[in-house]
Amino acid sequence: MRPIQMVDTKTQYHKIKPEVDKAVIDVLESSAFINGKPVHDFSANLGTYTGAKHTIPCANGTDALQIAMMALGLQPGDEVITPSFTYIATTEVIALLRLTPVFVEVDAKTFCIDPAAIEKAITPHTKAIVPVHLYGHAAPMEEIMDIAARHNLFVIEDNAQAIGCDYTFTDGTKKKTGSIGHIGTTSFYPSKNLGGFGDGGAIFTNDDELAAKMKMVANHGQSRQYYHDVVGCNSRLDTIQAAILDIKLKHLDEYIAARRTAADFYDKAFAGHAKITTPYRAPYSHHVFHQYTLQLEGVDRDGLKEYLAAQKIPAMIYYPVPGHQQKMFEQFNVASQEMPVTDWLTKRVISLPIHTELDEEQLTYITANVLAYINQ
Ligand SMILES: *Cc1c(COP(=O)(O)O)cnc(C)c1O
Repeated sequence: MRPIQMVDTKTQYHKIKPEVDKAVIDVLESSAFINGKPVHDFSANLGTYTGAKHTIPCANGTDALQIAMMALGLQPGDEVITPSFTYIATTEVIALLRLTPVFVEVDAKTFCIDPAAIEKAITPHTKAIVPVHLYGHAAPMEEIMDIAARHNLFVIEDNAQAIGCDYTFTDGTKKKTGSIGHIGTTSFYPSKNLGGFGDGGAIFTNDDELAAKMKMVANHGQSRQYYHDVVGCNSRLDTIQAAILDIKLKHLDEYIAARRTAADFYDKAFAGHAKITTPYRAPYSHHVFHQYTLQLEGVDRDGLKEYLAAQKIPAMIYYPVPGHQQKMFEQFNVASQEMPVTDWLTKRVISLPIHTELDEEQLTYITANVLAYINQ
């Protein structure tokens, strides 16, 4: 059996190696390392794929969130509603820009922000909502956009974990996550569903004015060369990364299908087990399984993780400490906030290996070992 990894980017690379190697060498030969043609080609192709009118490439997914928030003209003290149960990047940039993160609960089934909790957290200072499509499952965007419209709020979708996910509205319309809110952001970190061979990110919007502003912010606030109208930053996608990503984008749907096949295998193996809850798939979300995350009841989770490690099966806890309990956010006095769902999840979730290269032998070995520990 091939060794089991959380993500196997190497095997995936080897399947497209000739094409990728050629693209990289072409960039080396062109010497157009910054803003070369592949950056424009990839942005255009990604725009076609997602359906977003504007695609702005940038250096990473954290920058994408930062640039989005900078472009909205938010003022220090403005409140941004965000889930506590997410990766730190989402919430960190809020505080970095001297905005106030307002942490709310997620739904225990979808792991995504709970619309009822958003409504309760809205104050006269609220300016934006940042839903996260966690683990590859879409947040309930239709409800979120409705709340935002009623309260005149911006919505920035953190789509770092769900690129390629289709969202189905009640009227049957489908849109890609990241293209529904006022702004969407994503990351091309190597382990993401569309991963580069280094850092990368992108921002999406259908709003011409916001697009122009975000392009400017990402480029030193520059309106034309050496004229800087607003305080910006320097955030670019390298040409080499764009050339690689443009090739991988053609395989994204196939990569998503492979992840879903692995998820189906796990679902079947764990179906009906009293101590295991498999990931829920809401009818509006075409889950892209960035992670395959179980909720355990009456199981020593850390014991299971150690047991699996001894069998050479990696597993991860995403995320052990919720945002509102991170030391970073002490200044906002949020640690004592009551968050029963989030607290429960941080203690009960465990993510199993999921990627495009898992074979049946590996999946059988993983599920057998998980069940052996839990049933002992
Ligand atoms: C990976 C990730 C980011 C940040 O992406 P980087 O490219 O690593 O900066 C932001 N939000 C979420 C939910 C992520 O998973």
